[in-house]
Amino acid sequence: MYLQKINLVNFRNYGKQEIAFHPELNIFYGANAQGKTNLLEAIYYLAVTRSFRTSQDAELIKRGEQYFFLRGRFARKKSDSVVQVEIGYRGSQRIQVKLNGVPAKRIEVANLLPVVVFSPEDLLLIKEGPGRRRRFINLEGSRLRKVYYRDLKEYQRALMQRNRLLKENKGLEVKEELFEPWNKVLCNYGSRIIRQRLSLLKSLEREAIPFFQYLTSQKEELSLRYISSFPLPPEDGKMEEHFLKSLQGRYGEERRRGYTLVGPHLDDFEILINGAEAQKYASQGQQRSAVLALKMAEVKLFNAYYGESPLVLLDDVFSELDGERKRHLLQHLEQMEAQVFITGVELPRYFKGEAKIFQVNEGMISNEGNWGDH
Ligand code: ATP
Ligand code: MG
Repeated sequence: MYLQKINLVNFRNYGKQEIAFHPELNIFYGANAQGKTNLLEAIYYLAVTRSFRTSQDAELIKRGEQYFFLRGRFARKKSDSVVQVEIGYRGSQRIQVKLNGVPAKRIEVANLLPVVVFSPEDLLLIKEGPGRRRRFINLEGSRLRKVYYRDLKEYQRALMQRNRLLKENKGLEVKEELFEPWNKVLCNYGSRIIRQRLSLLKSLEREAIPFFQYLTSQKEELSLRYISSFPLPPEDGKMEEHFLKSLQGRYGEERRRGYTLVGPHLDDFEILINGAEAQKYASQGQQRSAVLALKMAEVKLFNAYYGESPLVLLDDVFSELDGERKRHLLQHLEQMEAQVFITGVELPRYFKGEAKIFQVNEGMISNEGNWGDH
């Protein structure tokens, strides 16, 4: 699926704008604060029906205006089928979504059009604590495995109930049996979640490794490591048992503190470069390269899962990368089947392939022609 054309009205710093895209590579360049990220946000919003920057839709309406409107025409490369998505929002009202002219639910659109976005915020995946990485893996899990979301919801429900019970009885003498039903549910769904995360991390790692090697001219190795709140058994079948044993082992402490101390809600994963933890040791460029590798791996996994390439949105992707990495990244993007949108403050110089180039200036986008013309 690729985006043929977009119309924006009163979205962020855009007034009225219509842009036709290249089915493969689109490059947007311009000075700071001109509207490059805003455009990627609009594309993302059309495909996912929410922003990757804010949960407040009102912020997306151009200041001084009453509403925003977006329309996108998506097409499949291999057939003639076209999908039109329209989204309108008037502050304080619900957003209106139409799919091929017919009112639709947000989720119908979101399930239809896979997107992978890289924005500088994603570097926090390495820089920040475990919460953000858990969100990442939960989101990927939900999008790439049908039962993951259900398992997660069931787990969270059981966790909430168990925590409530612990809190209510904090410091009191209560029989351990009281917790047994919740322990069972927790271990069941928790183990399912951990298994799926392990397999997802393995797949991500498998796809990320060759890209990372290429990006770094074979100089660096990437690996991912799951960090569990209890020692994982060597045999997969014993996961529930180990989970339960760990829970039981910390029962006294849990009762004192009033919440659950074992389980995937506390787990994390590590990103390692040449065997060293990226969070502690990686340089800016290395961190960016590693996050990019995760994103490129996501593209591959989405491709396999949906049977078609996602849209790939890369915001300010080249900064902090040296010339060689920039060149390799562009070469990779050029070979990729997906439609790609890249922004940057200047035009990359390392590329001679086919692309459409746009200049972004004060909320106006002008097509500067195709790459070959430059
Ligand atoms: P940079 O290179 O610094 O990342 P950019 O081109 O990506 O810049 P954007 O983030 O797209 O810049 O923002 C461009 C401008 O849009 C900013 O000046 C911002 O103040 C403005 N802007 C954001 N939201 C709105 C809004 N709702 N109404 C009007 N202008 C807005
Ligand atoms: Mg920007």
